[in-house]
Amino acid sequence: MAAELEAEVPAFDRSLLECSAEELAAKWLQTNDLQKEVYQHLAYYVPKIYCRGPNPAPQREDLLAQQVLLGPMEWYLCGEDPAFGFPKLEQANKPSHLCGRVFKVGEPTYSCRDCAVDPTCVLCMECFLGSIHKEHRYRMTTSGGGGFCDCGDTEAWKEGPYCKKHEINTSETEEEEDPLVHLSEDMVARAYNIFAITFKYAVDILTWEKENELPGLEMTEKSDTYYCMLFNDEVHTYEQVIYTLQKAVNCTQKEAIGFATTVDRDGRRSVRYGDFQYCEQAKSVIVRNTSRQTKPLKVQVMHSSIVAHQSFGLKLLTWLGSIIGYSDGLRRILCQVGLQEGPDGENSSLVDKLMLSDSKLWKGARNVYHQLFMSSLLMDLKYKKLFAIRFARNYRQLQRDYMEDDHERAVSVAALSVQLFTVPTLARMLITEENLMTTIIKTFMDHLRHRDIQGRFQFERYTALQAFKFRRVQSLILDLKYVLISKPTEWSDDLRHKFLEGFDAFLELLKCMQGMDPITRQVGQHIEMEPEWEAAFTLQMKLTLVISMMQDWCALDEKVLIEAYKKCLAVLMQCHSGFTDGEQPIVLNMCGHSVETIRYCVSQEKVSIHLPVSRLLAGLHVLLSKTEVAYKFPELLPLSELSPPMLIEHPLRCLVLCAQVHAGMWRRNGFSLVNQIYYYHNVKCRREMFDKDIVMLQTGVSMMDPNHFLMIMLSRFELYQIFSTPDYGKRFSTENTNKDIVQQNNTLIEEMLYLIIMIVGERFSPGIGQVNATDEIKREIIHQLSIRPMAHSELVKALPEDENRETGMESVIEEVACFKKPGLTGRGLYELKPECTRNFNLYFYHFSRAEQSKAEEAQRKLRKQNREDTALPPPALPPFCPLFASLVNILQSDVMLCIMGTILQWAVEHNGYAWSESMLQRVLHLLGMALQEEKQHLENLSEENVVTFTFTQKISKPGDAPNNSPSILAMLETLQNAPHLEVHKDMIRWILKTFNAIKKLRESSSTSPVAETEGNIMEESSRDKDKAERKRKAEIARLRREKIMAQMSEMQRHFINENKELFQQTLEELDTSASGVHDNSPVTSDAKLTALGPEQTRVAEHRQVVMCILCQEEQEVKVDSRAMVLAAFIQRSTVLSKNRSKTIPDPEKYDPLFMHPDLSCGTHTGSCGHIMHAHCWQRYFDAVQAKEQRRQQRLRVHTSYDVENGEFLCPLCECLSNTVIPLLPPPRVLFNRLDFSGQPNLAHWIKTVCQQIKALYLLRDEDCNSGSSEKMDELQLPEGFRPDFQPKNPYSESIKEMLTTFGTATYKVGLKVHPNEEDPRVPIMCWGSCAYTIQTIERILADEDKPLFGHLPCRQDDCLTSLTRFAAAHWTVSSLSAVQGHFCTLLASLVPNEKNGNLPCILDIDMFHLLVNLVLSFPAIHCQDFSGVSLGTGDLHLFHLVTMAHIIQILLTSSTEENGMDQENTSSEEEVAVLTLYKFLCQCTGSALKEISSGWHLWKNLKAGIMPFLRCSALFFHYLNGVPAPSEMEVSGTNQFEHLCSYLSLPNNLTCLFQENSDIMNTLIESWCSNNEVKRYLEGKRHAISYARESNKLIDLPDDYSCLINQASNFSCPKSGGDKSRAPTLCLVCGTMLCSQSYCCQTELEGEDVGACTAHTYTCGSGVGIFLRVRECQVLFLAGKTKGCFYPPPYLDDYGETDQGLRRGNPLHLCKERFKKIQKLWQQHSITEEIGHAQEANQTLVGIDWQHL
Ligand SMILES: [Zn+2]
Ligand SMILES: [Zn+2]
Ligand SMILES: [Zn+2]
Ligand SMILES: [Zn+2]
Ligand SMILES: [Zn+2]
Ligand SMILES: [Zn+2]
Ligand SMILES: [Zn+2]
Repeated sequence: MAAELEAEVPAFDRSLLECSAEELAAKWLQTNDLQKEVYQHLAYYVPKIYCRGPNPAPQREDLLAQQVLLGPMEWYLCGEDPAFGFPKLEQANKPSHLCGRVFKVGEPTYSCRDCAVDPTCVLCMECFLGSIHKEHRYRMTTSGGGGFCDCGDTEAWKEGPYCKKHEINTSETEEEEDPLVHLSEDMVARAYNIFAITFKYAVDILTWEKENELPGLEMTEKSDTYYCMLFNDEVHTYEQVIYTLQKAVNCTQKEAIGFATTVDRDGRRSVRYGDFQYCEQAKSVIVRNTSRQTKPLKVQVMHSSIVAHQSFGLKLLTWLGSIIGYSDGLRRILCQVGLQEGPDGENSSLVDKLMLSDSKLWKGARNVYHQLFMSSLLMDLKYKKLFAIRFARNYRQLQRDYMEDDHERAVSVAALSVQLFTVPTLARMLITEENLMTTIIKTFMDHLRHRDIQGRFQFERYTALQAFKFRRVQSLILDLKYVLISKPTEWSDDLRHKFLEGFDAFLELLKCMQGMDPITRQVGQHIEMEPEWEAAFTLQMKLTLVISMMQDWCALDEKVLIEAYKKCLAVLMQCHSGFTDGEQPIVLNMCGHSVETIRYCVSQEKVSIHLPVSRLLAGLHVLLSKTEVAYKFPELLPLSELSPPMLIEHPLRCLVLCAQVHAGMWRRNGFSLVNQIYYYHNVKCRREMFDKDIVMLQTGVSMMDPNHFLMIMLSRFELYQIFSTPDYGKRFSTENTNKDIVQQNNTLIEEMLYLIIMIVGERFSPGIGQVNATDEIKREIIHQLSIRPMAHSELVKALPEDENRETGMESVIEEVACFKKPGLTGRGLYELKPECTRNFNLYFYHFSRAEQSKAEEAQRKLRKQNREDTALPPPALPPFCPLFASLVNILQSDVMLCIMGTILQWAVEHNGYAWSESMLQRVLHLLGMALQEEKQHLENLSEENVVTFTFTQKISKPGDAPNNSPSILAMLETLQNAPHLEVHKDMIRWILKTFNAIKKLRESSSTSPVAETEGNIMEESSRDKDKAERKRKAEIARLRREKIMAQMSEMQRHFINENKELFQQTLEELDTSASGVHDNSPVTSDAKLTALGPEQTRVAEHRQVVMCILCQEEQEVKVDSRAMVLAAFIQRSTVLSKNRSKTIPDPEKYDPLFMHPDLSCGTHTGSCGHIMHAHCWQRYFDAVQAKEQRRQQRLRVHTSYDVENGEFLCPLCECLSNTVIPLLPPPRVLFNRLDFSGQPNLAHWIKTVCQQIKALYLLRDEDCNSGSSEKMDELQLPEGFRPDFQPKNPYSESIKEMLTTFGTATYKVGLKVHPNEEDPRVPIMCWGSCAYTIQTIERILADEDKPLFGHLPCRQDDCLTSLTRFAAAHWTVSSLSAVQGHFCTLLASLVPNEKNGNLPCILDIDMFHLLVNLVLSFPAIHCQDFSGVSLGTGDLHLFHLVTMAHIIQILLTSSTEENGMDQENTSSEEEVAVLTLYKFLCQCTGSALKEISSGWHLWKNLKAGIMPFLRCSALFFHYLNGVPAPSEMEVSGTNQFEHLCSYLSLPNNLTCLFQENSDIMNTLIESWCSNNEVKRYLEGKRHAISYARESNKLIDLPDDYSCLINQASNFSCPKSGGDKSRAPTLCLVCGTMLCSQSYCCQTELEGEDVGACTAHTYTCGSGVGIFLRVRECQVLFLAGKTKGCFYPPPYLDDYGETDQGLRRGNPLHLCKERFKKIQKLWQQHSITEEIGHAQEANQTLVGIDWQHL
């Protein structure tokens, strides 16, 4: 080993390596004072190894430290060579059955929702996969780091605590045995010695606070070097630190980023090294620069020796952690050493010392020692308990330190509470022995000192520091939650005692909240400042679950419940004595009842929403009923002390406050009050706020005369006057003085009726009604789903946070709902089962107002659909528990009847506005409830009981003497026919029907026939009504249609974008009209169709008439008319690339004439297919540009499109576009002048063209050196060739302009250069885009197994037609000689001449691009040829030539593996021919070609290889010449090859081409094969693309998402040396994992810093990228530097939902269809378009700095 070290370590260090570990250990074994020896050794060597320069050198340090420092310790510990010693230890070890794996940041963790004792119990991936929970309902999260695997902890799991791996060990160590028995006594002693010394050394040096001396270590070296050490804090931002460092230590930005990154990660980093002065200077600059707004950055100048020893101290702790991994015995010894009390008594153990200096240590040091604690103390069951006790005893101090600490909780030792408190036995032990509950609560109270005079919390004038503390102190509530999570199964007296002590402390806490933040109604003017309310609600929200858990604990033990109830009541009485309002007694009288109460008006006096003590008592009261304690031990309860009016007083005020706010009486109190009311009812708080207030009213009323309660309630609602004074109602309704007041009172009456409905109707909590927990949760779900079908996550969100949210809901959901699977988009939904709608209660108390009206609408609609009446009567309710049974009497109480009668009377009189339909609706609901109640009473009547509920009798009686009002029943009958109450008729009818039914029940006599007919008549009339309703609706619909039509014709004179919305509706119509013109007229099917050549099928010319989407005018597409254009989007593309690493080095010099067959970068053109006049588009685009300029000046907002780069949105469909393509008639017809019958064959034709080329070259040379007349003599012009002829451009000016526009755009985007319409490369780029776009579309069709023709969407068909025709016409606007030059060079690649040397060999040319370029540039030569040869002949010969070259290319690169297996015996003609050709090739290549004797294989390969080329060619010539495709090619079939050949004028036996033209082809093949590159390839010296090229796909993704999480957690940032990446992001195109959204991996791109993803898109996707952000489970689309959007991931949970952000943690699985959809977006080049649509829909996306991702 030493030898290998020597090479790496510089000479100076070599002397250090001479120190022998073995000898040293031997010396140590002899000595009497081991500590002195070891310290001396360390004092000498540590500074020599660590901190030798400005930058740490971790590899060197680690090497030397192992050799010089740790080596001797290991020798000493083992007493022999540790290479033998450690394995021995490991063998002898009986490892514990705990897994204890400490989680890395981002590592996946699993919890079982069925078996975990609490949600903090988690498993590592390995354990999870080997556990039974894999089959259960589990939850998956990514760890934030810290924490460890609970596998093997029997207390953490209800079932299956061990995975397969950890189970093996458990059978052997059933009994808890001392692990020390496995170690020799000597070993124990040595371990003890060395652990004690090293652990103490590390603790001393790490907690050392002096800057210039050392603990017990003399400085041996006098060289005084210092470090300027910068520490981490959470106040300063990255940018601030980087900026400051650049200034202070004069470093580059890059270095500064490096420093800042390390400081953030490790907690400190030296930023300067040198003498004291030098370091001190940097320190003062940093402090000065950062102290302005906040407290300065922490900087310390430290002696290098101290830093060296601290570095080694950390190393030692890590070392100890790894040493104890060898043996549980060693671990126990280390625990013992750590917890041993030192000489200073209490808190002097090493563990205590570390814990108590936690907040002073830097992040890196904390992480190291926390890890050590986890792998030692927490893994040893005996010491875990002792450690828990130390932790509990230090709890107050640790929390105090944490409050001052400037680090997050995750790096504080305080966070270890979760590891200790969630263990049920430990928690129980700490409660009983260390009084932990009380400690936590009191510590909490310690930190909230700010109180008002009554001793209540006051958050009003909180300073920033107090607010900060308040945030921190909330973690204590979390600790309390941990302690309470697991409920005791057995109670000892000790536990009872300590729990009740804790309960006392808790009541003290609640007492400080009772009545906090009181408010007074603001009259006159609006409040000036919104009062602080959030702190109080935060507290309430955090405590909600704890309050519920306290009640759960109480419910478990009768003695505890009784005591707690007493204590709570006592505290409530104390609180009430503190309230001093409204002592004045008043007496209320109504309906012969009278009650005494106090004078108090919510609208005038102070009122508070916070009543936790009352609410806790309400909760406990319900428990008395639920546990039956109230019936079993009434004598032990202080029931006589209860004063019902006192109990209900404050909850009632709170509810009245809500009603008044709703009635608009508190408008001047601002938003803070509205927010408070919102949260009071919200699912996060309501359980311990609103719900419990209702319970408290139910409690109070159940002990009162209902008449008394109702009168008090009327008085608190400030409505007493209205109902108690007989004629008040009339006066009230005629008084026109103040409409607002009347309106207000109406709302208050409605609210009050609603409250009565709730008090009587809400009996779904166990203990109030005779129900169980399942009934309660079912009811919640039913009502949520009554609003609309919901996704799983929506339902979860609507339920309170408790066990129901977890598994309770799922256990009942199947009973009440059906699951509907999601489609390609959207999510799975639960739909309410039809039979459950009868449980629907319109006045369900957890509905918000909006929800209530939505639910009402939905339910009425449903009933209409089912042809039922639309009444929504109250559902039948479960009976009350005995304690609450008397509540039903409210319904039949005199005051209630009076209230109902009064309101019905108003409805009957129907005068004025002092009355509302909602009021009536509520009264009807109450009547319905009462009838349901009576019916149920009668039905469940047992012999001995007398029915006391006689509601039907009471409502049949008319009113008493003074006002002689009619009976309620009579009024209902009147109302039934009232015309103004149409909507309520069904309900009234239901009431009357139920009334009759009850009457029948009572009389138990035969059915009355009268009632029957009555019912029939009513149904009849309702049917008529329905008919009328339908007619009316039809009429409305007709009117609406007419209106739209009128608007539309009006609009046609305007630009569409001004009326976009209505136009969207007509989109489809226009779409069909635009594409209809391309439908070719039916072709006679028996005619053979040929796409090109002299035999080309002639097609009749169509008149093509299109409509402009902007001005709605129609126009014919003609050569000489105004141009019509298609909106188009051009982008660079690598979708077909076979070589993603290739980049264009210098776009200015790049020559795109030949496309390489790796297709590494192409130019794609797409279009939405919407047509405009060129001038209409120009005007539109100018308007967009002008608007954008104004907008940017005004607001500096960004848009989804970049106007400066020519981008705009299609005015019709908002599709992102950056140019337009002109529409043209088939261009070939224009140039095809001559057509004589005798056309030359290929050889002849080539000869002629070569002559023409030669002539052109000579002419050009002559132009250059004018006067050289000799050459002119040489020039023999071929027959009919007139090189001086300049063709006339046939197109209109407008079309020419558009040809240039689109050409320039293609050039600009394709090459990423500045536009230059003169550049000779412009036409090449146009042809290239045409070829590339056809190739992409061919691939898509092939991948989807679709036939070549007839299946493209209109927009693509239109786009390809225009693009091809455009590319064919473009040469007319370019320089003729340039295009001629291109043609010459292109042809020379196949037919060599002397002029063009150095062209790519045929292996390096994409033949389809070559074909398109040749065919489209040929007219430039042909136009000067008057010999009579047709253009078609040229096309055909060019096509044949390129096809043959491609065949040779395929044969040369074919990687056929011969296997005789499936060879047929008889060789076909094709096989023989191809074999002959191949043999000829072998000859030409000098036998370098692999020998193949199977013609069958060659032919098969050739056919497969050439197919894509033929398909692309067919598309190309189809669009170029407009010959319709044979109908056989519009269906998938087997003999597509034959049809293709025939359409393309090719022989079925392709090799015939060679035979037919053997005279010229043999020479050509020989010349191709003699190329140097071809030779090199055949010699195996280079690579070449082979055919057919496979389609590119996105990478394969695993089915289980956690595989990805795991992969990402193992991924570390490639730039910062093994650090975990914060945002690992996977490129879905190539599979590279990137470190996104982070400074470390930013790179410079075109002068700007960009994140790893953006940088990657430039190489991998030429600017476009598709990524998966693994931690967020989110797909990211990027395009360029400014465009991006998030897209739903292709992973779904079992409920058919995605989990963006991984918040819910349900297991996720790959949805193949959705992934295919993403892949298709990519293949179709629609990513940019998708981003555009997303950004248009969501403006916030536009503001994101996408380039930083
Ligand atoms: Zn594990
Ligand atoms: Zn395990
Ligand atoms: Zn399980
Ligand atoms: Zn127009
Ligand atoms: Zn469009
Ligand atoms: Zn990639
Ligand atoms: Zn990075």
